[in-house]
Amino acid sequence: MSEKQSDRRDAAELRDVFTGEPLDLRPGSDDCYKCSTCDTECPVAEVDDEFPGPKFQGPEQWRLKRKEDHDIDDSIMSCSNCMRCDSACPSDVPLSGMHNTARGEYVEEEMSKFSREYVRNRILANYGRLAPLGAKFPRLANFVMGLSVTKIAYEKLLGIAGEREFPAFAEQTFTDWWEERGGNAASKERAQQARAGRDDDSDDKRVAYFHGDYSNFNTPEVAKSMVRVYEEFGYEVVVPEQRCSGTPMFANGMLDDAERAAKFNIETFAALVEQGYDVICSCTSCSMALRQEYPELYSFDGTAKVAANTFEALEYLRVNEDLDDALADSSVPESEFGTLAYHAPCHARNQGLDGQAVELLSALDGTDPVDVGDSCSGISGTYGWKEEKYDTSMKIGEEMFDHMEESGGETGVTECPTCAMQMNHGTGYDIRHPLEVLDAALVS
Ligand code: SF4
Ligand code: SF4
Repeated sequence: MSEKQSDRRDAAELRDVFTGEPLDLRPGSDDCYKCSTCDTECPVAEVDDEFPGPKFQGPEQWRLKRKEDHDIDDSIMSCSNCMRCDSACPSDVPLSGMHNTARGEYVEEEMSKFSREYVRNRILANYGRLAPLGAKFPRLANFVMGLSVTKIAYEKLLGIAGEREFPAFAEQTFTDWWEERGGNAASKERAQQARAGRDDDSDDKRVAYFHGDYSNFNTPEVAKSMVRVYEEFGYEVVVPEQRCSGTPMFANGMLDDAERAAKFNIETFAALVEQGYDVICSCTSCSMALRQEYPELYSFDGTAKVAANTFEALEYLRVNEDLDDALADSSVPESEFGTLAYHAPCHARNQGLDGQAVELLSALDGTDPVDVGDSCSGISGTYGWKEEKYDTSMKIGEEMFDHMEESGGETGVTECPTCAMQMNHGTGYDIRHPLEVLDAALVS
């Protein structure tokens, strides 16, 4: 965790914007000295001349609200929640906290609950509530979702971009696989065996896995790799019941939905942290939510504790394991991955994690990872799924697509599931998670 994040976390203890009292973001607004650095980093402002940029969405809008009875501007719905402005601000203005709050107020007060936009956004934001239905009958769901007529219907009725391919449901969810394999007890046993094989006498290697919805319903291979890699290093993994991290809900201004999900997750994971578990996420937007968005927005018991003990999966291994030694003689079959074109998700960048995957994977024989640059993929979760945002999303992604092609990579790599969708959509590359590459090198 960077020093900035740790300061932010301390500051978050003092900021309590969802108390039911009138919103007060004055401290943040007053910290802004109008340098406009945030505006220069905004990928939406770069391709959309109509978008006023983060400085307006955050501090300026809140200053206006303070002076007069000013409604939130509808342009807040064009912010993709990539959070690049957060990392850019030299004055630590809590821009994304301001944007989340403004979006919530806009949706609550300005958007009709019967509008097509509201219904579409609510569906996209609550994917985790709907996915279990598709996951029950994956073949049928995949067949129906793949039909052109379904895409046309979604576009016309709901405004979901018809150009996008719906992600396929897995034949078996991660949590079903986990239960079938023996759950927490089997993981404990495997981890004990691994520690014995490594002459490792530690008795505190315990992690609670926040897998998120996408790894559960669509890419269980990522979650399985996470479990296998961690057990290989001797960690006992537990997989508690959990809800969506809330990121797509914050991004769509569905703050009541987000609050319910966050409360459930905080209660669940805080109890495990109390028992000595660290919280591990394989998706960088999930780790972002637990360690930054939750403490910025909530003050439930255990919020700060969960935030302080949450880590991204590679980050945690880099901090706690001697990876140079562990990976020294490891290789992956070149035929499986070839040269890797790595994209760092914006939310990884925001946590200071953008360089770690390439550094780590470079240690493996059989891969030759290339970082494809610091541009945004453009999809930003649900943003690029919206019919009216699709072109903006693809324009933002162009730089990344070009760099992927130029890199000569054969497989794309990223930690974010929706960046992976956009990479595949823009280039046709097969996209994998760094944990899958590690799994292939160390275990499978
Ligand atoms: S979160 Fe991203 S899209 Fe939104 S204002 Fe900040 S930089 Fe722009
Ligand atoms: S970067 Fe920070 S200080 Fe500069 S204009 Fe944006 S919010 Fe204000």
